[in-house]
Formats: sequence, C-alpha cells, structure tokens
Amino acid sequence: MSDLRAAIIPVTPFQQNCTLLWSEKTKKGVVIDPGGDLDRIRQAIAESGVTVEKILLTHGHIDHAAGAADLKEELGVPVEGPHEADRFLLDRLPETGRMYGIEGARAVTPDRWLNDGDTVTVGEVTLDVLHCPGHSPGSVAFVSPSQRVAIVGDVLFQGSVGRVDLPGGDGKALIRSIKDKLLPLGDDVAFICGHGPMSTIGDERRTNPFLLGEPIE
Ligand SMILES: [Zn+2]
Ligand SMILES: [Zn+2]
Repeated sequence: MSDLRAAIIPVTPFQQNCTLLWSEKTKKGVVIDPGGDLDRIRQAIAESGVTVEKILLTHGHIDHAAGAADLKEELGVPVEGPHEADRFLLDRLPETGRMYGIEGARAVTPDRWLNDGDTVTVGEVTLDVLHCPGHSPGSVAFVSPSQRVAIVGDVLFQGSVGRVDLPGGDGKALIRSIKDKLLPLGDDVAFICGHGPMSTIGDERRTNPFLLGEPIE
C-alpha cells in the first residue's frame, strides 16, 4: 500500500546512503543527506522522474551535508533540518572537508531548523520529526507512521549504533534516543540508515548488541 518510494544512492568515500524519497502518486520528493557526488544524485533524480521539492538533513556531518549548498542552489529548493544543535557542524564543513581530503565541501545554513514533534512533507505524505541526539547533538529522524518507514541517519544501524566520539557526541544520550524515540515506533517499521543495509525496529530491538544491556537510568 506504500505510496512512498526510495532510491538509495551511496555517496562520498564514507559510502553514505543519500536517499531520494518520493510519493509515487505525485512524483514529488525530497533528497535526504546529499553529502557529495552530486552527479550520482542528479542521475537518480533523472531516472526516477521525480520533482525534488526540498532537501532534508538528518545531521551536520560532512558525509551527509557537504553537498547540500550546491544542490540547493542548483535545484532552487529549501533545506530543512537538522536540529539547530548541529549548526556548529554545518558552519565548519569547509574545514572538516580539508581535514578529510574532501574537496568542495561547503557550509550550509538550513532554511528551517527542525524540532522534536515537527513535521515535514514529501509530496502529500507527512513525516514526523524526532530529535535523536547522541551521535551528534542535532541529529533527527524522519518517520512515516502510515507507511511504516523511517530514515534515521547515523543514530541506529543494522547491528550497530552511531559513533559518539565526534564533537558533541554523547553515548548515554544516543542509547536514550534509540530506546525512547525509535524503539517505540513499532517492530514492523523499516528504516533506512546512513550507512549499510536497511533493517527493522523489531530486528534491532531483538538482536542489536548495543541495545541488549541493562536499562539506563
Ligand atoms: Zn554522522
Ligand atoms: Zn555518516
């Protein structure tokens, strides 16, 4: 029944899952986390025949956000997200790019910062915004309760969780975000993560070694 379609486009040396997400009914969509390799993203847009209405960012890391300024200018669309707590990461993308040897990384200021409980639209489909700090302070996840799908950035992976050793990372906050915000979405919810294969909330709740420890206070 799902009206949402997704094309996953691995970009940057970090093999980040840039996601083209669209409504099949209206062929209107969004590009989530255009970290770089814009030629590949352009090709996916052309192949799908989708009209891109906006760019969404899950968080401010270079592999997710470094191509956002260029793509925004090229498509003439707004950037929405992440939470403003990641502003410091988006401001310093050029410096981070030099550090990692990634050329052309540009700083970007979103047209709209997102907060927990906000919604964003993909065509006629509404996604809920969950603020999930821990991997970065401003990480957000996008959830379609009706389509049973989520895009979680680097918060949760198949069999793993986001790293917390980068600036602003917080291990306790990360586990709390996953347990309080993502696990309650329901076992049948499938999610696209920032790196690697898709999974479901139920599979991770049952088998993810990072979530099986004692409950945290
Ligand atoms: Zn990240
Ligand atoms: Zn990443």
